[in-house]
Amino acid sequence: MRRFDAHCHLESYEGLTVQPRSFALPEGMFCATSGFSAESNEKNAGIRDMLNSEFGKPSGNSSGFHESQGIAGLPGISNPGNAASGRRVFLSCGIAPQTAQDIEKIHDLLPLWIEQYRAFKPDAIGEIGLDWHWGKTDLQRNRQIWAFEYQLELAERIGLPVVIHCRDAMPEVLSRIESYNVKKFMMHCFSGTQEDALKSVELGGIISVPPLRNKDRKKAVKAVGLARLVAETDSPYIGKTLNDINVSLQIISDSLSVSLDDAAESTFRNALQFYGGKGSGF
Ligand SMILES: [Zn+2]
Repeated sequence: MRRFDAHCHLESYEGLTVQPRSFALPEGMFCATSGFSAESNEKNAGIRDMLNSEFGKPSGNSSGFHESQGIAGLPGISNPGNAASGRRVFLSCGIAPQTAQDIEKIHDLLPLWIEQYRAFKPDAIGEIGLDWHWGKTDLQRNRQIWAFEYQLELAERIGLPVVIHCRDAMPEVLSRIESYNVKKFMMHCFSGTQEDALKSVELGGIISVPPLRNKDRKKAVKAVGLARLVAETDSPYIGKTLNDINVSLQIISDSLSVSLDDAAESTFRNALQFYGGKGSGF
């Protein structure tokens, strides 16, 4: 069974930063690792290259992070799959709202950071968005909005899909997506209502289901249907490992009364289409 974790943070895995060679991508597993700060974007680019070069096809000419360590000894990667020309790890780079809100010089730094992460050749821009849960003050929220709009404009200009982080700010996020000509977007760790889900889909988005059960999410999943869904772990923060994708898939399977295999295959294809179809790039 092929599975695609549409949003995780490999650089936050202890096993990958302390002992890169101890990490194994599970059999049949693809994933998209996401940055949220300048530092995590760079680390994720290095990890993406390290894991993908196991298949003889390093993607992007990235930072060279970990290059000297080689990858020959990486255990557990035995099934390359060929659906994505040998790539199994995709990359999303962005400055998240929780990061942007506390950076005093965000207006000076963000343009420099973007220059830096364009070298990593990401497959998507994200996670970016608005988070009113962590951003309480006007100052924090204004920095979030500025960073979000700046990166939406970037995504529009270079034609890359966007991975959205949204917490307690759905109307503010959707109205901004609507006002930019963003090709494709994904609502990561979707936590809105059924109406929010339908509105997102109407704007061309897809909904990503985390390994967390709740009634509203079930309703949203039902309203949207298999064609507009992907599954994620957000590991190691929400799920602990990539294998927790099974919980997200089970939620989809239960909500829609489809088999686990169908949920896995459909979300796999949707995620691959989202991350694997390059836009014009930087
Ligand atoms: Zn995340």
